[in-house]
Amino acid sequence: MMKKYFLLSALCLLTLTCRAEDVSVASPDGHLVLTLHANDGLAMYSITLDGKQMVEPSRLGLLSDLGDFTQQLTLTGTQQGYFDWNVDYTRVKCSQSTGEARTLQSQFTNADGLEMDIEFFVANHDVAYRYIIPRPESGNPKCTVIRGEASAFRFPQQTTTFLCPQINPMTGWERTKPSYEEDYTADAPMDVKSRFGEGYTFPCLFRVGDDGWVLVGETGVSGAYCASHLSDYSADTGYTIAFPMEGEANGYGSAYANVPLPCETPWRTITVGATLAPIVETTVAYDLVDPLYEPTQDYRPGRYTWSWLIWQDESINYDDQVRFIDLAAEMGFEYCLVDNWWDERIGRERIAQLSDYARARGVSLMLWYNSNGFYNDAPQTPRDCMNTAIARDREMRWLQSIGVKGIKVDFFGSDKQATMQLYEDILSDANRYGLQVIFHGCTIPRGWERMYPNYVASEAALASENVMFSEYHAQKEGFELTMHPFSRNALGSFDWGGVIMNRYMSRDNQSRHRRYTSDTFEMATGIVLQTSVNCVAMQPNNLTELPQHELDFLRRLPTTWDETRFIDGYPTRYVVLARRHGTQWYVAGLNGTDQPMTLTLDLPMMAGQTVQYYTDRPLRKGEAFMQSQLRTLKVSKDGKAQVTIQPMGGIILI
Ligand code: CA
Repeated sequence: MMKKYFLLSALCLLTLTCRAEDVSVASPDGHLVLTLHANDGLAMYSITLDGKQMVEPSRLGLLSDLGDFTQQLTLTGTQQGYFDWNVDYTRVKCSQSTGEARTLQSQFTNADGLEMDIEFFVANHDVAYRYIIPRPESGNPKCTVIRGEASAFRFPQQTTTFLCPQINPMTGWERTKPSYEEDYTADAPMDVKSRFGEGYTFPCLFRVGDDGWVLVGETGVSGAYCASHLSDYSADTGYTIAFPMEGEANGYGSAYANVPLPCETPWRTITVGATLAPIVETTVAYDLVDPLYEPTQDYRPGRYTWSWLIWQDESINYDDQVRFIDLAAEMGFEYCLVDNWWDERIGRERIAQLSDYARARGVSLMLWYNSNGFYNDAPQTPRDCMNTAIARDREMRWLQSIGVKGIKVDFFGSDKQATMQLYEDILSDANRYGLQVIFHGCTIPRGWERMYPNYVASEAALASENVMFSEYHAQKEGFELTMHPFSRNALGSFDWGGVIMNRYMSRDNQSRHRRYTSDTFEMATGIVLQTSVNCVAMQPNNLTELPQHELDFLRRLPTTWDETRFIDGYPTRYVVLARRHGTQWYVAGLNGTDQPMTLTLDLPMMAGQTVQYYTDRPLRKGEAFMQSQLRTLKVSKDGKAQVTIQPMGGIILI
């Protein structure tokens, strides 16, 4: 759809340039300006916002077996066009996206006279570009290998970074990395080496001093290309697109992109804002891609219970799973996720019985799978069910026959094109059998919510399991969850696997380390973190432990949103978002710091209303945990509301 429109609209405004020069395109509102520079044989671009430099002149181009398109380039023509869209979404931060953009198509030839085109999209808050390589006029070759990209991102010197390092392949648990599960560093200077020397995983957030924010990502990555990340910083070129590491997936698959000719690469996306609102609210990851197949049914959003987070492997038995199904039924949740080892510890016959039991209680099962295979050592079963078309077909047919509605597939550990093909094949096959898919131990989605209509969300972060595993991560929960709305979750749905209501990370809810966040914080994460099928990781004991207003809130928690607005926040410190479900607005805030925070919020959607106000009562002497409170709050006629968020606490306004 997008592609056709670009070509049609390109005819409307035709300007042909025959010599090297700069070509600028302003966004429809005129604030954001992209400039294409063609000088000294190099293709470069830069971006300004209201005249302020947000991206400095940065290299473009790619290196392929067909030819070198990184240097000795001649700009032979440009065409400017216009593009608008109005699209419905079912599983992202909003239910409708409308917008308009200016487009720029540019044609370059290299030293051998071969053509490479670069297509730009310039909306009010987003710039995106991709490469198009035509088939040579002689008709051959009809395919090539892309060895790398010159695509660079250079920022003004005052820029600081909010980045997650890429880790070396075949490291970590049973050699399953990289899986996007490393610590973010906040507000760091550009001129530092990444922790593992392998650059940074997307999305990558940059603060351009007081001038604003830039979020870099990519979208439209299918089995037709590899996924990429950003290189380490160099003063000369800035950050550049880096392809997967050779060693990923135990060396299986190429680290390059094998493409047909003609080919289009994925989009490189650059979201730019004077404030963080455009970053939180962007839909660029979805607006630039199209569905790759039709859904076989209306996939149902909802909440799921999950025994594994706290009760761990010992809970993978029939009786414990009955308790989590009963919990889901009691809470009115749609799903229960049975995690690893179910094939051995419950068995396939008894899982079918468990699914019957769940369905009789109005709950659908989702089942865990190991994606392996042959590319890492993750021992958990079921294995060898998802990595070949033959095994998948047999397995998914059986899942459908016993009424299972979703799968969670784990331990991928690679961004190579071969692995992108595996993700795509699992999704496409699962759609035939009415299965929604969650990925763990995995890469981030890149437009997948729209490309694959049964894709739900990915982990691809230090998720809730780490709060369980170590006190260090339990203490960092506030830091992590006030980072993701501005980066990881801004460009893709996120299976955090949380809303953790146990006070202690143990089945008896007394031993091991504690949770450092308040109950209101956890409930607010159910709104702040977006995925259409969301985990509420409460435990059966929470039913009798939690105050009634908390249980009532969790029972009514939506997982789909018609609109999302940034209200206030700063990455790794605090965040306040507003999301609309139908006609009801939900405002949720998290404080990730150890100090109380008093904020005057701008809430035009609640102006003049008296709203429900979930908050935390400050700790009293001798108390270890804050109590949540449900009060009312009057929002002024001009939409102002003053709130206080306690340390590692939360607020919710409904
Ligand atoms: Ca994981």
